Amino acid sequence: MTTTKPAKTRSLRLTESDGCDILTITETVELRKGPKVTTTHYRCEKLAVRGETAFRLHKLVDADEEATAYDVLLNGLRSECSCPAGIYRGNLAPCKHVAALNKLREHGRI
Ligand SMILES: [Zn+2]
Repeated sequence: MTTTKPAKTRSLRLTESDGCDILTITETVELRKGPKVTTTHYRCEKLAVRGETAFRLHKLVDADEEATAYDVLLNGLRSECSCPAGIYRGNLAPCKHVAALNKLREHGRI
């Protein structure tokens, strides 16, 4: 028996609010019963790490959720993220934080 992974699409938005960069990641998973959309907002803080491009993503959560922040280091194939899905090694796909920031960087947005 084979199972097919549901198709997942991801879109990004970078907006500014009170002088802060807000990164919005929207993921849509096509399930049999219909698309499931998950939207996550992060406040994007550039970290001063000498010679490196690093960011801290502060997840914006509801009052009853625990605040979370992830540190992302952009370094090509050796990019890293402190999220659970995060450490990018070899051929493994980068987590959504690394993927999102890399894409924004490609487009000169950050
Ligand atoms: Zn991550």
